[in-house]
Amino acid sequence: MIYLDNAATTRTAPEVVEAMLPYFGELYGNPSAIYSLGSTGKKAIGEARRTIAGAIGAKQEEIYFTSGGTEADNWAIKAAAEGCTGKGKHIVTTKIEHHAVLHTCAYLEKRGYEVTYLEVDGDGLVDPQALEAAIRSDTILISVMFANNEIGTIEPIREIGAIAREHGVLFHTDAVQAFGQVPIDVEEMNIDMLSASAHKLNGPKGVGMLYIRSDVKSRLGAQIRSFMHGGAQERSMRAGTENVPGIVGFAAAVRRALGLMEEKAEKERELRDYLIRRIEEEIPYCRLNGHREKRLPGNANISFRFIEGESLLIMLDMRGVCASSGSACTSGSLDPSHVLLAIGLKHEEAHGSLRMTLSEENTMEELDQVVGHLKEIVQRLRDMSPLYEDFVKSRKE
Ligand SMILES: *Cc1c(COP(=O)(O)O)cnc(C)c1O
Repeated sequence: MIYLDNAATTRTAPEVVEAMLPYFGELYGNPSAIYSLGSTGKKAIGEARRTIAGAIGAKQEEIYFTSGGTEADNWAIKAAAEGCTGKGKHIVTTKIEHHAVLHTCAYLEKRGYEVTYLEVDGDGLVDPQALEAAIRSDTILISVMFANNEIGTIEPIREIGAIAREHGVLFHTDAVQAFGQVPIDVEEMNIDMLSASAHKLNGPKGVGMLYIRSDVKSRLGAQIRSFMHGGAQERSMRAGTENVPGIVGFAAAVRRALGLMEEKAEKERELRDYLIRRIEEEIPYCRLNGHREKRLPGNANISFRFIEGESLLIMLDMRGVCASSGSACTSGSLDPSHVLLAIGLKHEEAHGSLRMTLSEENTMEELDQVVGHLKEIVQRLRDMSPLYEDFVKSRKE
């Protein structure tokens, strides 16, 4: 099997599993308990919080563990909306956010909030000037993702943070794809809230975190409240017995990612650029989606004209290759990806897209095999396509 879907999820690293195991076994105590079996878990959570805070230049009390990136995004946006009503009901975000952000914004729109969805350019970049122009006196939140999960484009977060700071608007970033892949510093980048998820950086599924800057109330008057109501866990901000093994695994994954970051990025970039170059040189009528340089090290997203991404994926799967397409097939719909449409692709181009997201564990030999499969499959699918037939005829005339 050749796994090229690391933006969907990653393999839990062996050392991460190792770190978690005791907390499934003998160290099963509830962290809220008084006896030492519980306090061992509590101590482990404290250490994990310090590790994760340190990874983004935050203070440990600014990190709140959640069930993943989706919960962190929901919490950040809904709590900002509810906690700033004195100022207004306007939110600025982008057209290319993850559904965890877009669907939360749509939910708020039904409840009287107004949302501006910024356009992006052909590479998927948000224009900081357009963002600044969208800020109004009643704007309560700016939410722009750090890096896009489909096309890999890395947004100008530092510039956006500076603008948000200057205008006194709360700034949230969905950093689920970027965390552990690229350096992040919430101080330098003026980030007020940040979402991350363990399973995108070789950690376990079902655990993530929201960073909430400690001064958002004093500086911006933003009262970020609890999302889950119940017990007093996470300083009464996120009720529910802590996922101790998950949190320990998350921290182990972060330590691993920080230690490997440069080496991993360099290896992935090399693999990615090799894959993109070979496809561009050897398969006609394709295009790279996303910014060529400002992109996640492991992301290659390519549209092949005249074919259906779904068919391509099925045929790749039959050859043992796991990748992803530009359709929201998981939602049961065949609508083309909102991200690919936002960067200006036509519906049929968006449908013919393939996302391959690499890890440092992939090899050149694997990519050679993938390119071989792609050449064959793309040609086979084009040979069956009436669109391609018309195109070939029109070129001969
Ligand atoms: C995966 C992902 C999410 C959702 O995270 P989960 O932990 O799977 O809920 C949110 N945003 C982005 C950009 C993602 O890639």
